[in-house]
Amino acid sequence: VPLTDFVLGDAARFGDKPALIDGPTGRTITYTQLAQAVERVAAGLAARGLRKGDVVAVYSPNLPEYAIAFHGTLRAGGIVTTANPLYTVEELTHQLNDAGATFLITIPPLLETALAAAQQSNVREVFVFGEAEGATPFAALLQSEGAAPNVEIDPREDVAVLPYSSGTTGLPKGVMLTHYNLVSNLCQIAALEPLTPDDVLIGILPFFHIYGMIVILNSALNNGATVVSMPRFDLVQFLELMQKHRVTRAHLVPPVVLALAKHPIVDQYDLSALRMIMSGAAPLGEELAVAVSERLGCKVKQAYGMTEASPATHITPDDRIKPAAVGVLVPNTEARIVDPATGQDVGVGERGEIWIRGPQVMKGYLNRPDATAATVDAEGWLHTGDVGYADEDGYFYIVDRVKELIKYKGYQVAPAELEAVLLSHPAVADAAVIPVPDEEAGEIPKAFVVKKADVDADELMAYVAEHVAPYKKVREIEFVESIPKSASGKILRRVLVEQERARRA
Ligand code: ATP
Ligand code: MG
Repeated sequence: VPLTDFVLGDAARFGDKPALIDGPTGRTITYTQLAQAVERVAAGLAARGLRKGDVVAVYSPNLPEYAIAFHGTLRAGGIVTTANPLYTVEELTHQLNDAGATFLITIPPLLETALAAAQQSNVREVFVFGEAEGATPFAALLQSEGAAPNVEIDPREDVAVLPYSSGTTGLPKGVMLTHYNLVSNLCQIAALEPLTPDDVLIGILPFFHIYGMIVILNSALNNGATVVSMPRFDLVQFLELMQKHRVTRAHLVPPVVLALAKHPIVDQYDLSALRMIMSGAAPLGEELAVAVSERLGCKVKQAYGMTEASPATHITPDDRIKPAAVGVLVPNTEARIVDPATGQDVGVGERGEIWIRGPQVMKGYLNRPDATAATVDAEGWLHTGDVGYADEDGYFYIVDRVKELIKYKGYQVAPAELEAVLLSHPAVADAAVIPVPDEEAGEIPKAFVVKKADVDADELMAYVAEHVAPYKKVREIEFVESIPKSASGKILRRVLVEQERARRA
């Protein structure tokens, strides 16, 4: 079935239950209101010329209206492409043109950027949530009369969403996800991350990124749960909302988990309704997971995925958590762990590149047949670019990205492992590790560290050396104010590598 029919098919059953709550204002949209608004927006977009396959760009922070714009577009047969609200004119222009967007939906404070980008693209009409000169109020769509158009969707062929990958390793790539990909993944997620109408989720991760879009927003709406959304991250507001709305499950990324582990104010809040934290999108060290679990008295589990897999391929079951693992394969998904040198599968506990096959694997990258062919092979295996291993119980562990392993002499050192050790030190607030060139060793690991208490470099290097094999030692430390991270919670090691290169040149 088409994604919107699947997600909102049961909306009437949940009636007056809040589907979406705007965190800062408390504004609430019930399931009945949501379903009705989606129909009207679909009718309104169709009346304004949207035809099947037309692309609508949503360039907005998290708001309840995000879900209406998203499903209104799909219901009208359109395709949604979601853009990072931090994008500049240039970045947004690139995405609008790459995706071929003809409509753009934004918020008043972003309108100037949106209009500047729209002018350099094929966008015909710009809408704003709220009101602003120069754009059509989104509310005009909500007043549309008439029914949503009847559009024939072929779930296996028709693209529903065009999210962009995070751009951690290069430029973000547009990912073609079909209705079938996304409905499949919602079913797979539900098997290991069961939500009920009693659940309250915190929508703190950006809805433009696949994790917030599918694992939080659409999983919640599909199961009659409530999403409390936050337009931007603020630790105090996050804790206040978690307490006030008695949030039951929090889907987070490591930087937020890190704050929950280390920030003193966390103890001032009553988070007793919270039963489960899920962490995904980037590596989370075992010590951190355990520390947060003990501090908050709730379970902490990991999941793994990527934009190209809609996104989830592995989720930890609630009843058997291994804190260092990213979980087990979601149903109806196969994995191989392949030695890049030989192309052969490795054994239990041995490292290799993780390959994935299943109904959630993307149709391909948009406009990039070469990149698609290099990523999904002829047999349908998605080559993730991540190194990992599996244990005898089928739990997977992610070591790091193949491309980001540090080559020290003949060895491979995973920056994520060293970062996890550094973060387990009480004086360390945050850390990132990158390779720097070295004449003798090829590359050596260098750490960037944000301090939270007094400590010197030698002390920290000695601490790491106590915890890892000698070849993995951190050999250089620089203290910094902050670590560059993407909106989806990933350390931007690429940025640090470039800085370092420029400095050494
Ligand atoms: P790009 O592909 O544009 O360089 P990206 O890979 O960061 O960016 P996403 O699709 O957002 O874009 O992220 C998927 C990647 O995130 C995975 O390939 C993996 O490297 C990392 N990742 C996701 N979940 C986890 C996890 N639980 N532990 C470690 N890494 C993870
Ligand atoms: Mg990627």
